[in-house]
Amino acid sequence: ISIEVVEETGSTNADLMQRVKSLHTPTLLVARHQTAGRGRAGRTWLSTPDGVLTFSLAWEFPAGASSMMGLPLAVGVAIAERLLQLGVPVQLKWPNDILRDAKKLAGILVESQASQAQSSWAVIGIGLNLSIPAELEREIGQEVADAAWLAQMDRNQLLAQLLQALQVALTEFSLQGFSAFVERWNRLHAHAQQMVVIMEQGKVLHQGIAFGVDALGCLLLQTEQGEQRIHSGDVSLRPL
Ligand code: ATP
Repeated sequence: ISIEVVEETGSTNADLMQRVKSLHTPTLLVARHQTAGRGRAGRTWLSTPDGVLTFSLAWEFPAGASSMMGLPLAVGVAIAERLLQLGVPVQLKWPNDILRDAKKLAGILVESQASQAQSSWAVIGIGLNLSIPAELEREIGQEVADAAWLAQMDRNQLLAQLLQALQVALTEFSLQGFSAFVERWNRLHAHAQQMVVIMEQGKVLHQGIAFGVDALGCLLLQTEQGEQRIHSGDVSLRPL
């Protein structure tokens, strides 16, 4: 794996997505500061230098590997389990967030691009809040979580821990797809058995009791119309 560290960039995901066609080895890009961090669907991920750990990992998957839909969820499991081992109590919000006390501690953004016929690459971006000043929280517009304990840890040690967890999980995902992660995801589900609404572009699409994910990573909802499977996409979930 090739490891690159930069002082500042717009978005580590954008940088790796630009270069993904010419990569030959898995590549980790770490930025001390990101000035144009991205979320899903053009949303932004805000950070301050040193306040948020931001990095992206470009990883090659064999062509014909199982559905990539569950990849952000598998990454969530890997990161969340490692954070738990490091003493930070976290849970998962479908499809791509890591919560602490019901507030966002980390976000995951997976982007992919088919490169050669034999394989496809995914760029996996992580933004993990270490220490969020009140000013930044105001800018984000909602309460968010951070982790003072992790902020005190040696930054390289923390990165090494997360990278190791990711490498194991991505290898597992290549071989078995999301099915290897379903139970682990469901154990960490923040909204298990809770009434939630699924929003799309400001409109309520579904409302029901969330009871976990299936083998592809779809969210299972018990609604008045029966069981619904929610596919990934530009959908966000709001607890009622
Ligand atoms: P939603 O927050 O509506 O459920 P989402 O989880 O898909 O959507 P993402 O696109 O993953 O959101 O992340 C972008 C959103 O995260 C921003 O719109 C903002 O509300 C929030 N955000 C931005 N920076 C941070 C941060 N450092 N910590 C926590 N949340 C942040």
